[in-house]
Amino acid sequence: MKSKIISLCAIAIGIFSGAQSLAQYSSTPPEKSPMPMKPEMTEIWEPEVKVVTPAKVLGDAPSDAIILFDGKSLDQWVSQKDVTKPAPWKIVNNDHMEVVPGSGGIQTKMSFGDCQLHIEFSAPDIVESVGQGRGNSGVFFQNRYELQILDSYNNRTYRNGQAASIYKDHAPLVNAMRGPLEWNTYDVIYTAPRFKADGSLDAPARITVLHNGVLVQNNVTINGLTLYVGLHTYPSAHGDDVISLQDHGNKTQFRNIWLRKL
Ligand code: MG
Repeated sequence: MKSKIISLCAIAIGIFSGAQSLAQYSSTPPEKSPMPMKPEMTEIWEPEVKVVTPAKVLGDAPSDAIILFDGKSLDQWVSQKDVTKPAPWKIVNNDHMEVVPGSGGIQTKMSFGDCQLHIEFSAPDIVESVGQGRGNSGVFFQNRYELQILDSYNNRTYRNGQAASIYKDHAPLVNAMRGPLEWNTYDVIYTAPRFKADGSLDAPARITVLHNGVLVQNNVTINGLTLYVGLHTYPSAHGDDVISLQDHGNKTQFRNIWLRKL
């Protein structure tokens, strides 16, 4: 009896420790289990899951988010042309910011790796140009991998360069773009690339994107730097880095940007 209790404890410790995986048991036929399973043997209690207060309005920041832009202040951002200078874009009506064409991109002061990002954007109110020239901007994760922003409302361009594409890497599953006078949302789950000790790639970055609540990128692999010219490959090893927003010469607007580190 004593040995049975000891072996039960050993099984329990095996389940509750390490990777907390139950896979080893699901692959063992019940008739070969060393002893009958009890419900408690597959319950994991510790550590308790952290409580987060969700926002009252869907799309607003939950309690554990870092607010990157609240419509009123660019304090979390700097100029990409000179990172010692404030972000040169315009705040409009204490509601949103707008790209100042020619002023250069902006980037966060903080660096990030794996994250959940919420960002809202609107194409310029006055529709100008066509294709890649219309409402072009972009969100660069780790300052390298671009989730394209474009006015893709009734505006054809190459499919792997339209709104919600991973630029020249993956076309979006569908085009969920709203008209230029409306706001769009991106909700992103980004997994940074992993590198080996020798600097070579261990695992590429992955990304899931919802555009206005519609799944457009389903945990796709990012195949390297999202270059305009040339095939995409990975750079040398890098760690966390800033998130940047592109100045592509169009007055794209942004609001309600928040992030959760994962
Ligand atoms: Mg772009």
